[in-house]
This record gives sequence, C-alpha cells and structure tokens, in this order.
Amino acid sequence: MRRITVLRLFHRVGRDDRVTVHVALTARAFGASGVMISGDRDDGLIGSIRRVTEQWGGPFEVDFVEDWEGYIRDRKAAGDVLVHLTMYGVSLLDVLGELRNQLDQRDMVVVVGASKVPRVVYELADYNVAIGNQPHSEVAALAVFLDRLLEGRVFKVEFEGAMLKVIPDPRGKRVLRLRGGNLKSEAWDGDGRGRGLVV
Ligand code: SAM
Repeated sequence: MRRITVLRLFHRVGRDDRVTVHVALTARAFGASGVMISGDRDDGLIGSIRRVTEQWGGPFEVDFVEDWEGYIRDRKAAGDVLVHLTMYGVSLLDVLGELRNQLDQRDMVVVVGASKVPRVVYELADYNVAIGNQPHSEVAALAVFLDRLLEGRVFKVEFEGAMLKVIPDPRGKRVLRLRGGNLKSEAWDGDGRGRGLVV
C-alpha cells in the first residue's frame, strides 16, 4: 500500500487544539502515514502528537507546513493524488473503487479543513469527496474515509517501536509495557482492584 498523508488546513491555536489533535490521532490509528498541519504554528501540539507515537508506536510523521498551497502543488507534481474531504463533494461510495486503484499506484494526500476552505483547494483536488452531504466534523469525515478506503485497517494495524500495548479486556484496562519505565498508566480487575501495569 502507498502512503496516505493527511493535510490539516488552517489550524487556529486555542480554538482548534483538540480537534487538530484528534485529526492526527485518527489519521494514525486508522492507517495514514502522517499528518501535515498548516495555519498557526503550534510546536506544543506537534510535540504532543509525537509523544503519542513514541508511546504507542509508529511510524507516523507529523509536521508543520508553512505554505500549504505550495505543499499541495509540490505533492501533485511528485505524482500524488489529492483528495479533499468536503460536504459539497461527490459521495465516497461513487469513487471508492477508483480511489483504491489510485492508492495502489500513487501516494495520497487527504485534505481536511478547519475554517472555510478556499476555492483553489476544490480546483486542485483530484477528488472532492463527501461523507454524506451534510455538515459534520473533519474527525468523523476522516475516520469514515480511511475506514472505507483501507477496509477496516483500524482493526488490524500494528505499530512498531511502541512502549505500550493494550491487551483487550472485556471489563477493565490492561496495558502491556514493552519498554521504557517512566510512564504512568493504570489497570484494574473487573472487581475494581488495581493490578498495575501488566508486564
Ligand atoms: N465551514 C467550513 C467550510 O465551508 O469549508 C467547513 C467546516 S467543517 C467543521 C471542517 C471540515 O470537516 C471540512 O473542511 C471538511 O474537511 C470536513 N467535513 C465536514 N463535513 C463533511 C462531509 N459531510 N463530508 C466530508 N468532509 C466533511
């Protein structure tokens, strides 16, 4: 599979902090290779996403992009396919097969907005894709897009170099520490007794 990079447009410090982090976490968990963030430069936010990757594994790249339009044009010139998620686009169901074929041959950049997305993005996009034609959220749109495109990779994906790994448990929290010693975490049995980290 080729690489998918999510481009988060127009991040606003303060206003978009949580949603931008959630865009990045969703991109990583659902199978994208990285996220590029444009708008207000926010090194703290980039650091917190990198820390998640250090703890829970990668590879997953995160970086700030100053000139988002230049980035899009460069990536297109390099042969990437550009997908813009927008409620005004064509239904994902109508282009899913085509997008899967594209991803077999080309890396993909997936654009999601925060505030109003300018017309040039609609024009540069190879596909303007809607997850339904109602307004909702960039996090929801990205999750559905990646889940459908990658056929449930979120349920299978394995990360390299993780410090921590969840052991699925029907009632409590179980976390396996694979390396490193400074992280706090908690676990408990179904009866509420703490059992600490499982090693
Ligand atoms: N008001 C902004 C505009 O007109 O461009 C959009 C704000 S919306 C909360 C933020 C982002 O969520 C959008 O830029 C788009 O990427 C994504 N989004 C929201 N609804 C969507 C939908 N139905 N399909 C695909 N993407 C959607």
